[in-house]
Amino acid sequence: MADSKTKSGNNPVKIADNISELKIKQIEDEVASSYLLVDIGANLTNSKYSRDLDSVVERAKDAGVKKIMVTGASVQCSKEALRLTRLYPGMLYSSAGIHPHDAKTWTDDCYDTIKELASNPECVAIGECGLDFNRNFSPQDVQMEVFEKQVQLACEVGKPLFLHERDAHDDMVRILGKFKDRMPPAVLHCFTGTSAQALKYLEMGLYIGLTGFLWKDKSDDGVRSILEKGLIPLDRLLIETDAPFMYPNVRGSKIPANIKQALSDRSLSFLNRYCTFQRNEPCALPVIVEMIAAYMKRPVEEVAMATTINAIKLFGFS
Ligand SMILES: [Zn+2]
Repeated sequence: MADSKTKSGNNPVKIADNISELKIKQIEDEVASSYLLVDIGANLTNSKYSRDLDSVVERAKDAGVKKIMVTGASVQCSKEALRLTRLYPGMLYSSAGIHPHDAKTWTDDCYDTIKELASNPECVAIGECGLDFNRNFSPQDVQMEVFEKQVQLACEVGKPLFLHERDAHDDMVRILGKFKDRMPPAVLHCFTGTSAQALKYLEMGLYIGLTGFLWKDKSDDGVRSILEKGLIPLDRLLIETDAPFMYPNVRGSKIPANIKQALSDRSLSFLNRYCTFQRNEPCALPVIVEMIAAYMKRPVEEVAMATTINAIKLFGFS
């Protein structure tokens, strides 16, 4: 004891302080790196990842994202998503379906093709499917018809639905309602609606998927206030990056100081080093869960754990 004091020179207290700060930082890093998250929606078939997918997947792992669902949004994209799962077994999973934007590409053989893709164990959901009356890239009547076929298919194969909805809440509720007695579990991914809409989806038994969209929600009755009011029970919440989209701009002036303070250095370092508006990555997920937990005023470990358990339950990951 006396010996080490002598060796430490005449300012042992300062050194001790430095050591303990370092120690605290290490412990914080360990806690942060012990995240065990599931990104339930990343568009890793996007050409933006074609050059460095290995690094993207490796970074996600380092950040604590242990499983990623690669979104299928067209027949081609769903095939490619399934192919990626073979390259990263146990880490990547896929969904198979046709996005409402691409509903107009539906042909008679799509039903059987998606069914065939969904017969693989790595393909854990039907979708992304649904309704997008915001952009209307496909005519609304075609969207509804193609969506209904995919819900039918999910019922037939018994795999969960990965749903997309923009400005089409009533029709989404109406179509899902037709299948209510036999519908498999479903998640409304990248939810951006109102509290009444969230409550309706929850009442129907759906899970709610949240992304980095949170940062730009400015409405009085949107995702932020839904979280602040605690309207989404923890056992119905899922998290996703929707990468390369939905970059969480945590520097944005719309984010209150207390939320910014809740973000850990480690999570921010992944976000700031690797993610941009042009290309978000699954390694942004820790920042998203920290932001969600801060709005919910709950410990981030609790939210992380709950969302992971929900994903395992919903998609049947091992
Ligand atoms: Zn979507």
